[in-house]
Amino acid sequence: MPPPNGRLGPGYLTDEEKKNRPKVTKGLIKRIFSYLKPYRLQLVFVLAAILCSAVLTLLPSVLTGRIIDDGLIAQNMRALIFYILLSFGVTLLANLIGILESYLNTWIAQHITFDMRNTMYAHLQKMSMRFFTTNNQGDIITRMTSDISGVQQIITSTLTSIISNAITLTVALILMFSENWKLALVGIAVVPLFVLPTRSAGKRRWSITKRSQEASDEINGILNETLSVSGQLLVKQFSMEKREYDHYESVNRRMIGLNIKESMAGRWFRMALGTFTSIGPMLIYLVGGIIMMRFDKTITVGQISVLVALLGKMYMPVNQLLNIQVDWIRSMAMFTRIFDYYDMKPEIENAPGAIIPDSAGGEVEFRNVRFYYDPEREILHDISFTLSKGKCIAIVGPSGSGKSTLINLIPRFYDVIEGSVLFDGKDVRELDLGFLRENIGIVSQETYLFNGTIRDNLLYAKPDATEAELIEACKRANIYDFIEKQDTGLDTIVGNRGLKLSGGEKQRISIARILLKDPALMIFDEATSALDSISEQKIQDAIEPLIESRTSILIAHRLSTILAADEILVIKDGEIAERGTHKELVGAGGVYAQLYETQFSKATEHTQPDFTYSEGESEI
Ligand code: ATP
Repeated sequence: MPPPNGRLGPGYLTDEEKKNRPKVTKGLIKRIFSYLKPYRLQLVFVLAAILCSAVLTLLPSVLTGRIIDDGLIAQNMRALIFYILLSFGVTLLANLIGILESYLNTWIAQHITFDMRNTMYAHLQKMSMRFFTTNNQGDIITRMTSDISGVQQIITSTLTSIISNAITLTVALILMFSENWKLALVGIAVVPLFVLPTRSAGKRRWSITKRSQEASDEINGILNETLSVSGQLLVKQFSMEKREYDHYESVNRRMIGLNIKESMAGRWFRMALGTFTSIGPMLIYLVGGIIMMRFDKTITVGQISVLVALLGKMYMPVNQLLNIQVDWIRSMAMFTRIFDYYDMKPEIENAPGAIIPDSAGGEVEFRNVRFYYDPEREILHDISFTLSKGKCIAIVGPSGSGKSTLINLIPRFYDVIEGSVLFDGKDVRELDLGFLRENIGIVSQETYLFNGTIRDNLLYAKPDATEAELIEACKRANIYDFIEKQDTGLDTIVGNRGLKLSGGEKQRISIARILLKDPALMIFDEATSALDSISEQKIQDAIEPLIESRTSILIAHRLSTILAADEILVIKDGEIAERGTHKELVGAGGVYAQLYETQFSKATEHTQPDFTYSEGESEI
């Protein structure tokens, strides 16, 4: 007997699955079928193949009757050999068609899942940063992999199993009735005898298995708790040995009972199956025999044998069709989950008629910008500032004050809640997203390099860059010395997330990457993590010429970076607390000045003072 459901796990729904039963609407079914539509022609072939193979598989059962009546009983050797050969030929043909059917089936399923995966991937790429920071990464991957693979299974097994079982049953019934309607009726009466006991035995076994699993979990829990060092210490301190023993013994006893029951349920299950599969044919022989001998002499031995053979072929399809409901609910749940994702609207999209200017200067203006991730907590309050073409602004402020958040609004990783961000005088929401992002280069705090060579990572910014351009960018980013020293040069593997490189090397490669991109606006989020002063200097030397030649924003933690800027914005608690040049701010004697004094006194000892200060320290 095949497992109640060999495809999607046990043939009974778990409580959770019952609770989350999807709502099957006409719209859902229509949507599912819309994925099958492009493969209509292939589906017609599959249906034809299923039909042929179902009929051909059943034919030998009918031929058994001819073999008995026309061959054996009539003692006709030619007829006997003819029907045996015919049976053999038909079986062979049925199997060959079966192969064709499974090829077509797999082909369709693979193509449908190919379409679904691509749609899902393209859709996920359109989702905003909020989607990726909020959703569990595991869930996203599961949706892409297991759920869509589940769909493939639905098409290759659930759908075909419904169709082929239904066809097999219909054909078997037609054949039975055309052979002899009285015997056919007897046959139908016997079917429930085949099916019901095995189903209820299976259900009972499933419930015992679940209970014994729970008991076993409980036992493991007791052992883990009481046999650990600290558990034993507690037991001994409170002299609880007897109580713990009694507890263990009672669960252990319960488990024994369940194990015996489970094993016997399996036994009963097999017995029921064995008995009913052998009793079924006996009943037909008996009833058929009675009809043949007492009421209807036209019934032949061959006809009774045909009926027995056909009944044997009906048993599996009936059982599988009874389990189909479970597969069906699981499949619908899977489709619903996938469609839920498809229906999520990307938060940030190109506006209709988005503007693509001819060139970009990199000017930025914030006009009364308010922003929050969560309405309960506003992160940026009323931020306004202007960055003119070719100028450089440094943003300083405590950790968590909203500096990175502010930066993320420019390339529209998030959209403002109130106010507006302008790029070259145009609201970023009116600009083409592609244009906007192509003209902004960000070197972020956490440099991300793909696992591959340095060259691969650089080409990501400009796929058609020449060797000379790559080398030039590396030289300007102060990383070429390092690359030259490597045996494989630009083809050196950077490892997972670039882990084979130091923090400073990674940063300089990402600067080279931005240089290749050559954006109008450069944003540099300086790493807070400590780098040694030589690495520090190398990075500094790389970014200084960059800043001079283009519009840039620096989230700065070090004095040398701050000094390179034309204007400094001091952000505190999501507000611009102070703004001006280094000289002005030091002269004003406010937050910046105090910060500068405390940090700069340290800087006499270190060449590079660190301007990072935590929330606590900021109350200077
Ligand atoms: P640091 O200097 O440490 O990088 P920062 O000034 O750049 O800090 P932000 O990263 O802008 O600060 O964070 C500002 C506030 O917003 C923090 O309190 C943080 O907890 C919160 N925050 C940041 N990103 C998210 C997010 N994706 N979802 C919700 N809250 C966030």
